[in-house]
Amino acid sequence: MPKMRAVQVSKANGPFELVEREIPTPSPGKVRIKIQACGVCHSDSMLKEGLFPHIQYPRVPGHEVAGIIDAVGEKVTAWSVGQRVGVGWYGGHCNSCEACRRGEFILCKNMKIAGISYDGGYAEYMIAPQEALALIPEELSAIEAAPLLCAGITTFNALRNSIARAGDRVAILGIGGLGHLAVQFCSKMGFNTIAIARGKEKETMAKKLGAKQYINSQISDVAQELQKLGGAKVILSTVTHQGAVSAAIEGLSLDGQLVIVGIPFEPIQISALTLIRGNRSIKGWASGTSIDSEDTMRFSALTGVRSINQTFPLEKAAEAYQLMMSGKAHFRVVLTMSHS
Ligand SMILES: [Zn+2]
Ligand SMILES: [Zn+2]
Repeated sequence: MPKMRAVQVSKANGPFELVEREIPTPSPGKVRIKIQACGVCHSDSMLKEGLFPHIQYPRVPGHEVAGIIDAVGEKVTAWSVGQRVGVGWYGGHCNSCEACRRGEFILCKNMKIAGISYDGGYAEYMIAPQEALALIPEELSAIEAAPLLCAGITTFNALRNSIARAGDRVAILGIGGLGHLAVQFCSKMGFNTIAIARGKEKETMAKKLGAKQYINSQISDVAQELQKLGGAKVILSTVTHQGAVSAAIEGLSLDGQLVIVGIPFEPIQISALTLIRGNRSIKGWASGTSIDSEDTMRFSALTGVRSINQTFPLEKAAEAYQLMMSGKAHFRVVLTMSHS
């Protein structure tokens, strides 16, 4: 049997192991992807650290997968060998739970996640169910496409489903892996984009990416600064520090909405009065399905939105992961496969 290289985790908190495995064969309803690139996402820590329930180890992480279909199983009708496809966090749904019956596949109670429920993209090949596939437009390289399949779709889909309308002031809280994409989407969607981050260093970059205003949260009161600008209809929060979220919420306009996509380690503290006085609301947003990924990539191809990436070869997955976890990546980390 022909072999492939893969990087697996054998137990919670175990190391990344570079191993040789047999190249898998797709069963009915599934395809095999020859992987060209896979993004390294903060949510990979759920597998690495065993934070997700019922994980079966060893498991290959990775849910920002871009490659080419190189084999299709029986009963796959809509996809064929040679198509360029991606797989993101959404990795398939059950079709029978209440969320599925309501057509909300991303909220499926039994949703499959690439790199958690089955082996993901830290490998030269993977098997994916056909419903999890998103077509990659030809304008995007595999390295460009990969981060759009989680970081991209999450921010794109949260923004386009928010209450903001063209021309509204929208603030992006945090300019990192998620935030640097959010600023671009926000500005290309026609929102008056305000970037908020710690320190002065990110101002030039944020403005280059499309922000009209920049608020340095280290030296200023974020809520006050937002109110001086007229208040934000939407604040999209990408940060992992709850204090930063609490400090921004009074910057919402009347009827404004805080949309949360980043996951702070601690509960977010909000005064009820802040919400009541302005009819303000808070909501979370859960990524999207494969067709949302396609929309994200098509929008990016159309408007020039691109992730800024640091790339590593597959065998350096541990180093790549460490850089991502340090928060010092500039801005997303992507693994590449050489298929030597
Ligand atoms: Zn992710
Ligand atoms: Zn379901």
